[in-house]
Amino acid sequence: MKRYRLREEMNGIDEPPGKVWFWELAAGVIDADRCIQCGTCVAACPSNSIGINEDTFLPELVKMCTGCSLCWDFCPRGGLRYEALWPPSTTAEPSEDDVVRVDSSDTYWKITGGPPAEGLGAVVEKYAVRASTRTDGVQDGGAVSALLIALLAAGEINGALVAKPSDDPEEPWKGIATIARNPEEVLAAAGSFYNQTMALAELDLAKYKLGPNPKIAVVGTPCEIQGIRAMQARRWPTGAHRVDSVVLTIALMCTKSFDYEGLILKELRDRRRVDLDRVEKIDVIHGKMIVEYRDGQLAVDEPVKNFHGSALKGCDECADFLGRSADISMGSVGSMSGWTSTIIRTERGLAAFERARSKLDVRTMDDPDALVRLDNLDKRIAFRSLERTFDPDAPLFVDYEDHIRDYADSDRHAVVSAR
Ligand SMILES: Cc1cc2nc3c(=O)[nH]c(=O)nc-3n(C[C@H](O)[C@H](O)[C@H](O)COP(=O)(O)OP(=O)(O)OC[C@H]3O[C@@H](n4cnc5c(N)ncnc54)[C@H](O)[C@@H]3O)c2cc1C
Ligand code: SF4
Ligand code: SF4
Repeated sequence: MKRYRLREEMNGIDEPPGKVWFWELAAGVIDADRCIQCGTCVAACPSNSIGINEDTFLPELVKMCTGCSLCWDFCPRGGLRYEALWPPSTTAEPSEDDVVRVDSSDTYWKITGGPPAEGLGAVVEKYAVRASTRTDGVQDGGAVSALLIALLAAGEINGALVAKPSDDPEEPWKGIATIARNPEEVLAAAGSFYNQTMALAELDLAKYKLGPNPKIAVVGTPCEIQGIRAMQARRWPTGAHRVDSVVLTIALMCTKSFDYEGLILKELRDRRRVDLDRVEKIDVIHGKMIVEYRDGQLAVDEPVKNFHGSALKGCDECADFLGRSADISMGSVGSMSGWTSTIIRTERGLAAFERARSKLDVRTMDDPDALVRLDNLDKRIAFRSLERTFDPDAPLFVDYEDHIRDYADSDRHAVVSAR
């Protein structure tokens, strides 16, 4: 194991055995361009020693590291084996199509030692859902926002960790983490932002004045849900971040996120001359990047592969499109336009859903197989990427362009079959 360089340089005293320092996380994840900006390391640090660098928006050490190893242990690109968090799948008999075999000795696909990952993962119930009252600004069926508003009204939660638009005019279409405490704040944060927000760092709730025992729902990309579930599964004194307050986790299904400046400012505004003030919605769907103006005009309609350069590199390693460790997973694929595909995975998720049900239109999900296909594709890309981590010279299993074509076909199928 590498030693803590500064300690050696300063006084030559050997470090105590078994220590893992922030420096290790920095070298292996942050400096290696693998960080997916989930904020787990910030929330996990018991001495509040990790902050967010203002310029890079990446984690940085802000005071002394004690070498407790927790930032490394819980980092989804570090020591966290997130498949260990996946509850056993409820698919009784996975079909040939459900399973990606990357190793003939392996019945079902898995990364390292986790449970089988066939089908949709754990499913208590699954539906296509939309808010019964339509509101502007939502991404698909508005089901996430409607669920949160109903839970706030019922007193089941005091706030929800979501992403709202930055109010800095220099940062149009940048999502930033916030705790929404009422319906107005939930609706102001509706819609998808294609950047990561260091979300779990926002669980330092002091500034929100929610009282001593707040109940919080976390809405986040699957990697953020992995972080929170892992920290909840292995308890320790957490410093300022209220991991203990999280009573519900909602994963937004996700194949990739992007660097804000790279996607929004360089690719969209500068290269394609998109007028960001007129944009109504940005969507990554059907293997395409779609940018729509408020008057209905399409500003961008291009294969998403054209934007791969601004995607987060750490997303290539991610094999959790479906957010398998969440209480509820929600996404667009698998349901008709204007509806949200919803997989309820736990009894806790079901209780929350039942609480909100009178505010939701609920019907059978159109094409759950489309979710399985996209999940399998996501895993193939992750597996390839992982192999190349160990051996950068390893030939590509399938050309990346083929993956993108598969992705487009898989996603398009979801829509075609829904009509
Ligand atoms: C980066 C990203 C990639 C996605 N990729 C896919 C995909 O490949 N396939 C698919 O089926 N679905 C994907 N989704 C999910 C999809 O875009 C919708 O969020 C989902 O269908 C819910 O729609 P809704 O209308 O019910 O949500 P809404 O009612 O509009 O609410 C969305 C909620 O998500 C929160 N949110 C938005 N952006 C972020 C963010 N970056 N981090 C944390 N919270 C956020 C909002 O604050 C809001 O509370 C992705 C979402 C994101 C953020
Ligand atoms: S991936 Fe998450 S936990 Fe790991 S270094 Fe980045 S922000 Fe921290
Ligand atoms: S692709 Fe995976 S790692 Fe990247 S933002 Fe989505 S959930 Fe996180």
